[in-house]
Amino acid sequence: MACGTRSCQEPVIVSPATRVDLLRVEGVTVRFGGITALDKVTFGVPAGYIVGLIGPNGAGKTTLFNCLSRLYEPSEGDILFEGRSLKLTPAHGIAALGIGRTFQNLALFRTMTVRQNIMLGGHCRTRSGFLSNALRMPWVGREEAGLAAHTDELVRLLDLGPVAHTPVADLPFGTQKRVELGRALASQPKLLLLDEPAGGLNHEEVGALMALLRTVRDRLQLTMLLVEHHMNLVMRVSDRVVALDFGRVIADGTPAEVQANEAVVSAYLGGVS
Ligand code: ATP
Repeated sequence: MACGTRSCQEPVIVSPATRVDLLRVEGVTVRFGGITALDKVTFGVPAGYIVGLIGPNGAGKTTLFNCLSRLYEPSEGDILFEGRSLKLTPAHGIAALGIGRTFQNLALFRTMTVRQNIMLGGHCRTRSGFLSNALRMPWVGREEAGLAAHTDELVRLLDLGPVAHTPVADLPFGTQKRVELGRALASQPKLLLLDEPAGGLNHEEVGALMALLRTVRDRLQLTMLLVEHHMNLVMRVSDRVVALDFGRVIADGTPAEVQANEAVVSAYLGGVS
């Protein structure tokens, strides 16, 4: 399936006045026995924004991502995507709803090629199953052609053309991370959850990632929520930043506001670079 209404070619400028929250986290609390990992966490992610989610180790970032992916059930509160609660959506229905995710530990098939890995990410958008494939129903060929065209667009967008037919295991780590991004984008998400995309990258690769995230957001009209320890990347790429500490939101504002926030500085014992 091609990009359809969301073209991979045209940058889109959204007026700030028209922005509404694509995602709302409302009073979410998660407890593990005696530990309160998230404590009445509330914030919004406006459509078209890149929102950075920061906090020291153990602050609750992964727990929140796992709630958004429906891997964890909040003890209290709700998460609204496009105004609808996620409570009725099981984890396996999240991608079809329009929420994609990359993982800290790459979730790739290492013996398959770059193109095959990206294409697999789009299968949640197809309706053909074992039976319709076996019977060669008319829509199966159309879906496969659309999926292939969309995969090729993503390969170009992520500058993976020269390695499109190379097995993932033969590629450097930084390139594998771009494949992981492509796999998540193949499901045509409206909201992309990025879990430490800069983890393990060298200085040059982090610089390229900053530019790539903004290009991808603009071209695909995406909204992104980014968990990242690399402060320089978060502060330069994000439109807003939410800071957590001990499961609570301690700051929510522009990168400059959050960087200057005393609670954030003291949570990081010495501030952000
Ligand atoms: P890091 O940056 O180190 O990945 P984080 O901000 O992602 O940290 P979480 O992993 O969400 O933090 O952890 C928040 C708190 O919840 C921590 O005290 C952690 O020990 C606890 N926690 C997380 N998952 C579980 C679990 N499955 N069972 C028990 N406690 C957990």
